[in-house]
Formats: sequence, C-alpha cells, structure tokens
Amino acid sequence: MKLYSTNNVNNIVDLKEATLNALPEDKGLYLPIEINKLEPTFIKNLHKHSFTEIAYRVSSKLIGNEIPDSELIKICETAINFPAPIRKLKDGLYTQELYHGPSLAFKDFGARFMAETMSYFIQKENKKLTILVATSGDTGGAVAAGFHKVKNIEVIILFPKGKVSPLQELQLTTWGDNIEAIEVNGTFDDCQAMVKKGFLDPELNQYNLSSANSINISRLIPQSFYYFEAVKQIGQEKDITIAVPSGNIGNISAGSIARNMGLPIHTLIAAHNANNTVPQYYNSGTYQAKKSVSTISNAMDVGNPSNFPRYSILNGSTWNNLKNNNLAFSYSDQETKTALKEIYDRFNYISEPHAAVAYKSLKEKTVDKSHNKIFLGTAHPAKFHEVVNEILELEIEIPESLNVLKNKESYKTTLKDYDSFLEYMRNRR
Ligand SMILES: *Cc1c(COP(=O)(O)O)cnc(C)c1O
Repeated sequence: MKLYSTNNVNNIVDLKEATLNALPEDKGLYLPIEINKLEPTFIKNLHKHSFTEIAYRVSSKLIGNEIPDSELIKICETAINFPAPIRKLKDGLYTQELYHGPSLAFKDFGARFMAETMSYFIQKENKKLTILVATSGDTGGAVAAGFHKVKNIEVIILFPKGKVSPLQELQLTTWGDNIEAIEVNGTFDDCQAMVKKGFLDPELNQYNLSSANSINISRLIPQSFYYFEAVKQIGQEKDITIAVPSGNIGNISAGSIARNMGLPIHTLIAAHNANNTVPQYYNSGTYQAKKSVSTISNAMDVGNPSNFPRYSILNGSTWNNLKNNNLAFSYSDQETKTALKEIYDRFNYISEPHAAVAYKSLKEKTVDKSHNKIFLGTAHPAKFHEVVNEILELEIEIPESLNVLKNKESYKTTLKDYDSFLEYMRNRR
C-alpha cells in the first residue's frame, strides 16, 4: 500500500510507516494514492458475507499485499469481533448501532484494528513501542481496550483531571498491565500539548514513542467496514442516505472511502452540533477554523476538524464536487434535546445526543424522502446517561461491562506540568 501526505504529494510511505509514524513531518495527513474499487459482484452479494469477511475483503483491497492474507484475516477476526446491527424505526428510517464493542463507542472499530496492525508491524521487527495518547473522553477508553495486553506495546493515556465523566475515567484507569493513566491538572489542550512536546523531546526518543491519534490511517480504514455492513443489512433496492454524527470528520471520511470503493451510498450527511465549521464551509465555500464550544454531544466539540483535508480530497477536492453527493448541517443543544425526545416518543427507541444530531439532519427538506435513511449510533446511551435520563425522564440501565468497573481497582498518577511528566517517564522502571 502506498500513501502520500496531503501537504506534499512527493512524501510517499507504506502502511507500516503511516501507522507507526502517523504524523508526517510536513504536518499533512496520509491518504492512499489509489483507492481500488471492489468487484461489482462482491458489492451485489454483500449479504452472502459475514461482517468479518467483509472487513477482510475491504481491507485487503485497500492494503494490497503489504500484510499477508493469513495475517490480515487474523487482524480482522481479532479486531472486528462485535456486530454493527441496523435497527428499523419505521419504513425508510433506520439507525446503525456502532457501540457494541468493549468501550461502547464506535471508536472501538478504529482502535482495535490499529492495535492489531501496529502489533503486527512491530513484532516483525522485535521492537517495543510506547504509545502516548491525550483524550477528552471516548478515544482513551477505546485505545486502552484495544491495546490492553498487546505484546511489546505500552500505552500512556493523559486526561484532564475532573473533565471526563466518572464512568469514562474508570474506562481509562482500571486496566493495569500495559495501560497507564495520567491525570493532568489542566485541560484537554494541556494534555495534547504535553503529548506533542513529548514527541519532539530528544530525551524521550529512546522509548520509541508512537501516537494513537485519530488521524492514524489505520484507525480510518476499519471505519469503512461498517458502511458495507449497513448496506448489506438494509439492501440495495432503494438509494441510501447516511447521516454521520461528526466532529473530527474521521467517520464520514471513512464513509467516503467506502463510497469511492464502489459502495452504493447516494448521500453522506455531516451532522454537527453547534461547532459548525464544516456546515459553514458547505454553505459558503470558505473553510474557517474556530475555537470549539461545549455542547451535550461533547465528543463532537471540535472547531478545527483534523480530517478536513481528507474529507475534501475524498470527495473530489473542490467545493462544487463536495456538494454533489454530500450535505452538512449544524444544530443547537436545544434542537438535539428535542430530537432525542422525539426518537423516544415516536419510535420507543433510546438514543443519545450524538446520534440525535444525525437523526435531526435526516428531516431536512434537501434530504430525498424516497431514500432509505440511516443515522449512525456512535455511542451507547449509557455512556451519556446523565443527559439521556434528564431529557427522557427515565433511568436507563447501565450495561454490566460498565457497572463492573465500579468495583475494580483504579490506578492513576496525577501530574501538573511537562517537567513532572518527564520525571515520570524517567522513573517508570
Ligand atoms: C468521536 C465521536 C464522534 C465524532 O466522530 P469523528 O470521526 O471525529 O467525526 C461522534 N460521536 C461519538 C460518540 C464519538 O465518540
């Protein structure tokens, strides 16, 4: 597989380099030089294939022979070992539940596949890797679950003290083994700044640092799999519109990859909360990054979506091309709450704020009513039980996998600044 950097088309690497060193020095994003189309008979016959088989066929088409078939099958079997079911709310309206993985958010798809891929690449070389990751909530939990007990890889998670939910914190701190959690007296931006400084620090070079950042191409590839699974379950009799709860727009970029490989998705909708950088671009043709604002769909609180160059290039590079088969909308918290309530009242289905934003977008008048319409469910409602309970006036059940965390021992170290982080790294063993 050959990939180029969006900031320098002459910077060409293979998948191994793009996975282990996700951030090119030119600060671009890696994209495949070629996105191969799948055979039309395979696409027509999706229903004959299991989800794991689909994962293997799609990744194999993208990755080519850089990972041998026998290994790629193993990676897919280990990483994609939970379902992505479509639920019908009424004729023409569906949701796809992407939250049946260990951390109960769709980020498990990306994190698990990336963990297996990294592990494959470093085991061939007998190397050890230390992964640094800053998280505002969901990413850290998925990365920890994905890498727990993966050989020769250690993970250090930095999170802002008191700024992740109590359950999210337990998803970071109760692993032990090769997963270390550090709470930083500061904000998410402080955590991210420490990670970035760490990568540039010559003293830390000896630890073979790597990143599990959301821009890693190995996190994006597996996110295309569930779009195929959605089309498989819903059938291809009607055109399909998929609404994607969007923040850093990695998810919708993966949907764009699936479509470019020949999957019949007619329209993709980027559904955003009040952080409306992408919808504003869609309406005006001008991309203007902003400071993020806090909302009840906080995993989408992004003012400068890091995957924007990918989303743009995958959709034809120009504003006019992008507008062809895409839509983008932004909604306030009040609109999100009303939508969440409506999903419950009309369909007796408990959703959560991120998915509710996407549901709302399917009601826009520019959406073709004759299509089969799907909104992606990116997280289990229990992950956001405080908001969901309040809006729906009920008490949702917390899944056992989250409840057991309350009885587990929790490990974390508290650090205040970069110097104390350096000291921590020196004394780790
Ligand atoms: C991360 C996340 C999103 C946003 O996905 P992007 O790929 O960043 O657009 C949406 N919903 C939930 C629950 C998330 O955790």
